[in-house]
Amino acid sequence: MKPTSPAPPVSDMSPAEFRKHGYAVIDWIADYLDAPEKWPVLSAVRPGDVRRALPPSPPERGESMDEILGDFQRLIVPATTHWNHPAFMAYFANSSTAAGVLGEALTAALNVNAMLWRTSPAATELEFLTLDWLRQMLGLPEGLFGEIADTASSNTLYALAAAREMRPELRIREEGMSGRADLPKVVIYCSEEAHSSVDKAVMTLGLGLESLRKIPTDSALRMDATALAAAVENDRRAGRVPLAIVATVGTTSTTAIDPVPAIAEICEEHGIWLHVDASYGGTAAILPEMRHVLDGCDRADSLVVNPHKWLFTPMDCSVMYTRRPDLLKRAFQHIPDYLVVSEGEGVANLMDYGVALGRRFRALKLWFVIRNFGVEGLRSMIREHIRIARRLGEWIDNDPELERMAEVTFSTVVFRHRPPGIGGRELDDHNSRTLAKVVAGREVYLSHTRVRGSYALRIAIGNIHTTEAHVQRALELVKEAAGARR
Ligand SMILES: *Cc1c(COP(=O)(O)O)cnc(C)c1O
Repeated sequence: MKPTSPAPPVSDMSPAEFRKHGYAVIDWIADYLDAPEKWPVLSAVRPGDVRRALPPSPPERGESMDEILGDFQRLIVPATTHWNHPAFMAYFANSSTAAGVLGEALTAALNVNAMLWRTSPAATELEFLTLDWLRQMLGLPEGLFGEIADTASSNTLYALAAAREMRPELRIREEGMSGRADLPKVVIYCSEEAHSSVDKAVMTLGLGLESLRKIPTDSALRMDATALAAAVENDRRAGRVPLAIVATVGTTSTTAIDPVPAIAEICEEHGIWLHVDASYGGTAAILPEMRHVLDGCDRADSLVVNPHKWLFTPMDCSVMYTRRPDLLKRAFQHIPDYLVVSEGEGVANLMDYGVALGRRFRALKLWFVIRNFGVEGLRSMIREHIRIARRLGEWIDNDPELERMAEVTFSTVVFRHRPPGIGGRELDDHNSRTLAKVVAGREVYLSHTRVRGSYALRIAIGNIHTTEAHVQRALELVKEAAGARR
């Protein structure tokens, strides 16, 4: 066999080709974002279908963009769960928006790595500027340090790592936590309703799940501040070190709001870090009439809110504010020789404030979204989602076969179908079967939760295309699936 000579080096697509395919991609996105309901919200694929439809090995020679985009449309789009669909009301619905997509495209084009100020001054400074805008929109105090991470889960992990640096005498940064008889037990608190990212953070930080106190909640599923104070006292008396309390504004299950002012009181009394998880609910505070949801949060050491959830910014974009960037830096700053730069303390280098060295230019899309909609535009959409959710709450309250399971504070409604004469496990099973039927219809995507152990359905409104009619239809489908008398 004749040895084949290696192929000559190729270059990137020509500008002319890029234009051609670029226009085609933009055309596709324009149509998609205009009418995402062209596809069922849930795909009909079965596990393995996507992989089986594609070659198991990479192509030896480059393929044409026509072929690649053809496969995207033929195989990828139909196998997608359409979060952009107006009938996506599961979990917390989100939105891609035109301005956000354009921002993402330009982020990919610039392709900066904003690890140091010097490696992209604009990315670093626009991140601070845009987050200061968002801070003003949320009515948070001046002077907060803000940074963007991929997700709230990362931000909560970072906040708790910073909290640990409030106790430098524990020497955890230097000596770690393992094998140390001299280290008292370090404790974190959150409510029973807090997000699983808090559990994951204590697991990752090496504190261990046993150091996480899940404080009981009151009748409205808010953290019980009296029980919290008692738990802190108890740990202190036993010689343990209460480190941080995670309060939630808008719990994932029922969107309850923990009593942040009372929790802040306890934190201040004992020198405990207060982290507020407002990933979903915080966004509502851009409405003057909803600003109260962040009452007390000006006293937090850190707060997280996700523009990729309810602020019309494409995944991923989670914002953390802290008034202790010094501690965040103490937790994460570690500079190898080759990253020493001459700007010194005059600039912030974003690599110092988290685990990742490399950072995407995520602020660009958020800046585009805020500028393109304007604060008033963003408010109008959030206000409409809350209005629809309250309407849905009324329909449920007025229907003898439906039962609302939680207060409607934001844009999420938690309820169940309750036919006469059944309860307990049977009622749970009935609702779980109802949801399975609704989801199998693929016209609307809802998810479930448990409220004090009882199975409940959730309708979460958060997509830019969702209207009252979509929500009305979703409720109709639930009733149909439940076999309700009509
Ligand atoms: C969604 C959510 C999270 C997790 O958000 P990610 O950005 O996906 O990590 C954390 N906390 C609350 C309250 C949430 O609703």
